[in-house]
Amino acid sequence: MSEMKKAEKITGVKGMNDLLPDDAPLWELFENTVQSILKSYGFQQVRTPIVESTSLFARGLGEVTDVVEKEMYSFEDSLNGDRLTLRPEGTAGVVRSAIEHNMIYDGPRRLWYTGPMFRHERPQRGRYRQFHQVGAEALGFSGPDIDAELIMMCQRFWDDLGLQNVRLELNSIGDAAERNQHRIALIAYFEQHQDLLDAEAKRRLLTNPLRILDTKNPAMQEMVNAAPKLLDYLGAESLAHFEGVQKILRHNSIPFTINPRLVRGLDYYNRTVFEWVTDDLGSQGTVCAGGRYDALFGIFGGKPTPACGFAMGVERLLELMKANGDVHQPAMCDVYLVHQGEEAQMQAMVLGERLRDAGLDVVLHCATATGVGSFKSQMKKADGSGAAYAVIIGEDEASNNTVSIKEMRAGETENNQVNVPFGTAVDYLVDQIAGGGEEHCCDDPDHHHVHH
Ligand code: ATP
Ligand code: MG
Repeated sequence: MSEMKKAEKITGVKGMNDLLPDDAPLWELFENTVQSILKSYGFQQVRTPIVESTSLFARGLGEVTDVVEKEMYSFEDSLNGDRLTLRPEGTAGVVRSAIEHNMIYDGPRRLWYTGPMFRHERPQRGRYRQFHQVGAEALGFSGPDIDAELIMMCQRFWDDLGLQNVRLELNSIGDAAERNQHRIALIAYFEQHQDLLDAEAKRRLLTNPLRILDTKNPAMQEMVNAAPKLLDYLGAESLAHFEGVQKILRHNSIPFTINPRLVRGLDYYNRTVFEWVTDDLGSQGTVCAGGRYDALFGIFGGKPTPACGFAMGVERLLELMKANGDVHQPAMCDVYLVHQGEEAQMQAMVLGERLRDAGLDVVLHCATATGVGSFKSQMKKADGSGAAYAVIIGEDEASNNTVSIKEMRAGETENNQVNVPFGTAVDYLVDQIAGGGEEHCCDDPDHHHVHH
């Protein structure tokens, strides 16, 4: 071994993170909370491939969007020449799948998805090259009610996740004809202010002038703020839809602000667009974004179908959960099994299985290269596991067919250890754990407490 040359370490890909086991309880809490809320609104899960044809995103998201222009992981499958892309977002794949499987032939559907997304961006806090989204897509619904329902569902996520400082920004970007009228006015306005446009904006002027409103350039803010507002170009139907959404939100006490500058980065949106924003995460403060995309089915060659959805950034929300405090590390198990000696080990393996049969979570101390370690070091592990009980089978216990059960969360001075027959250990522990532990234990005169 010693003369072997040490191999060079291989590291992960820049901007693509490992989700580490210490954070697992947090993602589980997040995932369970979000999934049960989605279910409570009648959303069904759909899982689409991580790889799609490049043309799906180019067509669906729009050729001149940030994502398609510069953020996509696209490659040629060298085995057959297919042009493929790691999905940068979830909506295009879900809509493709809905069309391909004729999912809404008998009526609208509420769908949701979760998984990794890939964008070649500059990695920084809250911005990664692989990140995760949970998204919901309501397909086949045309009224403002579903837009409001999606937003109310988001509010329920934040409430149940314990997130306080998330606020809603809302806008309507109207329909294609209205946007076109606005676009003409906007181009005229920006042409009057050529001298203030940066290089990016000059390019956008010819391709997608609406996106100039989305600029982060401070030097352009004042000019952009005074630009013609799309809201002023909305027709009666778009306005009624927008007002319908607002009315439901007000009726349900969901606060929002109308942000006329909110245009969203992807081309497929129309009418309602919204973002949930927080100030607690620095500059990557948008934790969830969505809107209506009535044209997308048509763009993909499907039957025209109104739809509305959103996607939330899981990493940003997890960070917000951490920033908001009260996240505690839950116990790894109910019972940690400690043993010393060969016979004790055999008994511990059997007892572990019986405890799991009874529904308890059990971690059994197993050997490393240096063996199982001392009793003391095993008890340290038991403590670190957060288990409510350590079950100890030493040489004495093994020979007189008993086990010692130590209550880990009791104070040092208390009678916190009992010795029970091997055959009653499962019942005893189930009883203790289901019955809430200490008081029960100490009130029970049948149990013989021993000091350690
Ligand atoms: P941004 O303006 O921050 O780039 P976006 O408009 O590109 O966001 P969407 O496409 O609307 O983002 O994606 C929805 C959500 O996914 C975002 O609000 C954000 O929470 C999250 N998200 C987007 N890109 C990333 C990324 N590179 N890393 C981490 N989360 C991201
Ligand atoms: Mg982006």
